[in-house]
This record gives sequence, C-alpha cells and structure tokens, in this order.
Amino acid sequence: MKQLRISAVDALEILDSRGHPTVLAQVSLSNGSQGGAMVPSGASTGQYEAHEKRDGDAGRYGGKGVTAAVEAIRGEIAAVLVGMIAEQEAVDRRLCRLDGTSDKSRLGANALLAVSLATARALAKAHGVPLWQWLAPSDPRRLPCPMMNVLNGGAHAANNLDIQEFMIVPQGLPTLSEAVRCGAEIYHVLGDLLRKKGLATAVGDEGGYAPDLPSDEAALELLCEAIRQAGYDTDHVRIALDVAASEWVTDEGYRLPKQGAAMTREQLSEKWKELAEKWPLISIEDPFGDDDRRGWQQLTAEIGGKLLLVGDDLFVTQEHRVSKGATEGIANAVLVKPNQVGTLTETLATVRSARASGYVPILSHRSGDTEDPLIADLAVALGTPFIKTGAPCRAERTAKYNRLLAIEHALDLQADFGGSYR
Ligand code: PGA
Ligand code: ZN
Repeated sequence: MKQLRISAVDALEILDSRGHPTVLAQVSLSNGSQGGAMVPSGASTGQYEAHEKRDGDAGRYGGKGVTAAVEAIRGEIAAVLVGMIAEQEAVDRRLCRLDGTSDKSRLGANALLAVSLATARALAKAHGVPLWQWLAPSDPRRLPCPMMNVLNGGAHAANNLDIQEFMIVPQGLPTLSEAVRCGAEIYHVLGDLLRKKGLATAVGDEGGYAPDLPSDEAALELLCEAIRQAGYDTDHVRIALDVAASEWVTDEGYRLPKQGAAMTREQLSEKWKELAEKWPLISIEDPFGDDDRRGWQQLTAEIGGKLLLVGDDLFVTQEHRVSKGATEGIANAVLVKPNQVGTLTETLATVRSARASGYVPILSHRSGDTEDPLIADLAVALGTPFIKTGAPCRAERTAKYNRLLAIEHALDLQADFGGSYR
C-alpha cells in the first residue's frame, strides 16, 4: 500500500458516562479512511498521572469543559499532523514533542490520547482489519478474563464502603463467553440477595451495586454467597479488590474516608494479610498509597507469591515507574490505563517493560468511561490475562464485554482464555 498520510484531524466535546464532558477525536487519512476515539476519565485519579486538561470555567459544565483540549486538537495538533506520514510511533512522538511537558499538561493528555487512538483506528480501517489485529498481526490469540466490579464503594458510590471495588473473576471458566455468562449470572443473584435483605440495588459509577454494608468482610461474605447460589464455586470464581488506598492517605498514615477510623501502615498490612488468608482473593489493587513504598515492599515480600498485588495509582501506566518498582520488589501486576500516560505507543512500551520484569498486565477502563470499546481490542492485541471493565451492567461497561464477545466469535473460539497467568 502507498504510504498513507494524515489528511485531517478534528475533535469535539462529548459526554462521558457520568455526564461530564470528554474528548472525541477523528483522524482522516489520504486514502479516505477515518478513525475516531473517545477518552475516559478517572475519579480516584493518581497524583502521578498525565494531566487531563479541563477548562476550569465555572460557567460551563461546572468547570469540567474540555474546549481547550478540543481546540488544541483542531488547531496546533492538526497543524503539525496534517501531511505527516501516518505511522503510529512517529505520530505519538510528534504529539509528545509538541506538548513539550513531562506530564502532558500543556495540550492535555486527553487531547493527545484521543488523537493517538484515533490514528490507530484510522490505520486499522485503511488496512481493512479490526484494531486488535492491526495492533498485533500475528501473535497467538488470548482473550482476557473479566474482572467484574459488582460492588462499588469509595469514590465511585455514595454508600459506606471504603474499599472502592469488589470484583468477581471467573478465571476457572473455559472460554470468555462462559466467563461473561458466569459473571452476569452471579451479578443478578447478588442483586436478588440484596433485595431480599432489604438493601439498596442502585448502582455505582462502574455498574456494581452500591449498598451500605456493615463491613468489608460482609461484602466479601455476600459475594461468596452469590457465587455459590449462582451455582459456581470459589475455585473457579475468585474475588479481586481495588482498595484505591491513595484516597485514604493522611499526614499521619491512613484514614478510612467513610468509616472514619485511622490506621497505620502496619495495621493496613495486617488487614490485607488477614483478608488474603480468609477469602478467595486473586488480587489486591493499590493496598497502600502511591508513595508508601515501604508498605508495598513489605506486603509484596510477604504475600506477593500468593496473589496479585496490582499497581494502579502506584505505576500510572508509566514505564519508568514500573521499572523503578521492579528494582525495589514492589507489586507484581500493573494496571494499564492508556489515559494515565497519554499515547498508545507509551502504553504499549509500559506493557512490554512490565512483562519483561515479570509483572502481570491488566487492561482497565476508567470510572468515567464512554461507549468506545477500544480497550477490549487493546487487551486482545496485548494478550493481557485480565481486563477490568466494570459490572456486566451500564452500556459503557457492557460495550467492552460485548466487543470481546464479538472478537471471540470472529476468532471462532480459536483463542486461549486468559484466566491463568503464572
Ligand atoms: P478511576 O477508578 O477510574 O476512578 O481512577 C478506577 C481504578 O481506580 O482502578
Ligand atoms: Zn484502581
């Protein structure tokens, strides 16, 4: 094929799943192919993430408008990209150079990522293949096991749970479609259980139920009950937690934001060890704050051989933070959120380097997301053993599961399924 050039770059302000504005970018190529991409947005955002540019104009969307990011795409970014050869790494390098800051704060990571991903989509279209295939043409296929967030707490719900996410992980099921079915069945049994107990069944930002419960252990008990009542067992369906403990950090140590109790690093560490001992946990994400390297290091040494300790706010999808963690023996899995770093090329580099250091990559949505299922394609292209993309409920979450089901169908089940990772 003749070398393709970028012929147009456009953008607009759209809404995310929380009703806040976000960026949609469109890239057109010289052969007429077009690609679009929408960027998500977090609530429990890590302090080291690339900068999400918001207008701060209180008169529009409560200050959350993204017109400056959109204008940056239509103006400065279009000016340098139009006419350029459409090659992903070169485009991403050019975007980073144009921004010129280490945290993408001048043009905004939301502007850069939208253009980077739209370029990938346009290229895949131009070559007549789905995005997952474009990104990894010949690799053996592996579909990721869902980590379904069925109980929401923390910054994602107005209930009394301090742990942000309680997920079910059907890792012992044979195929993706069986795992999705299993997750959805458990989700509905969980809803019935809550209704029978007179508890709330309204859902949080990621589609999980958000009831008030007496304790974290009560939430775990409820999940195990739902797993059993749905006809499964905890050998096949494990539980994953995202503590998002950066939200708990105080000057003195930690404080549970909703229950109010203060805790030291040592107390927190004991809590995680106890939970890991007693419950069928497959992983704990962000069990400590993103600067508490001692807490991370100790826990990794003590229980890292037994379950996944996942760095989200800790690593913020940045290669240098993962390599530093690897030299310090911190965590053993990396949450991968493209908008934490700002371009596709950098996201791929982080995953490569994480793998080289023996870390398990887990692809992830954000709590504010859109109907764009791009991370499903990315998870398949990268062969990540897990994908974390919310409950089997709310269309911005099911868009990703449905996309994975469509990919499984296209592959005619000729793919491994991701649940085992060691
Ligand atoms: P966020 O939550 O998108 O609000 O950061 C997701 C997570 O912490 O994993
Ligand atoms: Zn997290």
